[in-house]
Amino acid sequence: PFASFPARLQRTARAQPDHTAIVYGRRRIAWAAFHARVRLIAGRLQAAGIGADDKVAMLAHNCPEYLELFAATLHAGACAVPLSSMATGAALEAMLRDSDARVLLVSAKGRDALGTHIDNVDAIAPAHRLALDFEAPGWRAFEDWVAESPGEIEPAAVTPDRHFNLIYSSGTTGTPKGILHDHRMRARQLYRLAAYGYDDTAITLVSTPLYSNTTLVSALPALNGGGTLVLMPKFDERGFLELAERERVTHAMLVPVQYQRLLAHPDFDDFDLSSFRLKSSTSAPLRRSVMEDAMKRWPGRLVEVYGLTEGGVSTMLDANAFPDKLDTVGRPAEGVELNILDEQGRECAAGETGEIVGRATAMMAGYYNRPDLTEQMIWHDAHGAMFFKTGDLGRLDADGFLTILDRKKDMIISGGFNIYASDLEAVLLQHPGVADAAVIGIPSERWGETPLGLVVRRANDNTAPAVICEWANTQLGHSQRLAGVELRDELPRSSIGKILKRELREPYLDEAG
Ligand code: ATP
Repeated sequence: PFASFPARLQRTARAQPDHTAIVYGRRRIAWAAFHARVRLIAGRLQAAGIGADDKVAMLAHNCPEYLELFAATLHAGACAVPLSSMATGAALEAMLRDSDARVLLVSAKGRDALGTHIDNVDAIAPAHRLALDFEAPGWRAFEDWVAESPGEIEPAAVTPDRHFNLIYSSGTTGTPKGILHDHRMRARQLYRLAAYGYDDTAITLVSTPLYSNTTLVSALPALNGGGTLVLMPKFDERGFLELAERERVTHAMLVPVQYQRLLAHPDFDDFDLSSFRLKSSTSAPLRRSVMEDAMKRWPGRLVEVYGLTEGGVSTMLDANAFPDKLDTVGRPAEGVELNILDEQGRECAAGETGEIVGRATAMMAGYYNRPDLTEQMIWHDAHGAMFFKTGDLGRLDADGFLTILDRKKDMIISGGFNIYASDLEAVLLQHPGVADAAVIGIPSERWGETPLGLVVRRANDNTAPAVICEWANTQLGHSQRLAGVELRDELPRSSIGKILKRELREPYLDEAG
């Protein structure tokens, strides 16, 4: 039988009503109370005529209401659409139109992100515009709306192909596209992730925004396993460390910048983190030096995960078990098959670099409203099997461990040579004066493109950029040499810490006309 996520939550709430489901600041919400809210809000959704595959959007900071509405949406058989408060108002309006959302929950933070586009929201649709923590004409207070619920309801019966959630890609590489996950995909993923110890004794600290799939791949298994979810409204180093110690946290999924910031915190070693069983990292490369530091000073296993919101590809590196493979992202997860393709679409041998393609039992249902786009991302092997093209470049070693080199779009082609920005960034980061670095390709009459280093210096470091550039070039191959290094105060990053290369490239593209 198909054990759906809402049915699992219901079972947990009955089996262990007094166990803590959510910790939020000083608030502790027991499973029975959490689930009663889920059932009540689902009743309100049903009364509003919202059911199978209808879209319920949320644009808010991390808070219990967010999780309650998310779970209630699934409980009512509908589909959750978590929207990013880092997106522009225009992009959010496009997402609301594309998803055809019938309910929209917004917090003050989301209202600010919508900007003037908030005036278009009533025209776009959401019949139910719900405000979490502000007042405005045309918006109803979320709690007033919930109070109109006719009562708690039983979970809707869902079939595996029902829509679970629709996540718009963060837009680091262009127009937002809606990635649709169905219940089948999430159930398979949750089954696989349960092996990482997300059981009813797990205490998972969630410190990244709930609208990101990176967050959902730890928040969903935490709830599905019947454990406790410790939710931070916003990440800060000290707050994270205090909560981790106070709540005896066992699991956390973090992004690389968070590791860097936490390990650099002057009081890091004073906190008792011995309760940790698993800390994972995903979304961008976790540098070897950071991994080594984390393994030395932070208890529990360290697992690096490579994957895409689309699914289809997922690899895991158990860093403690494979200390000689820290430059890789590990081997394919269970149920995943990988291939590397050259530019002609032929399979590469071990050691050769090409585009990573994969297929997996857990894979998106497709890009919402975009069958054309979905089709473009598919590659068929000689036996007709369908693989998903990741747009990432990498290579497999003889033991089947994957190394990520770059995104295809970030690769620099200079004088006919392929240059991987990640190689150059790794060299720049070895300079003692460099705190952060990104390398982009800028137009060059002579070479087509040429690599430029953008560098943030460590506090109190005054090394001239030309000196950093010269130093890096002595470490690099002839065809890889940097045309220059420029200083920046900081590098633009997405809400989950990815460097926004498109943004960095923009001024140089304008210059070229
Ligand atoms: P968009 O598609 O708009 O750029 P996004 O990149 O943020 O949005 P995600 O699905 O969150 O969308 O990111 C997947 C990408 O993140 C991968 O294709 C890969 O480039 C990068 N990535 C994920 N995990 C790792 C990792 N462990 N190491 C290096 N890169 C990673």
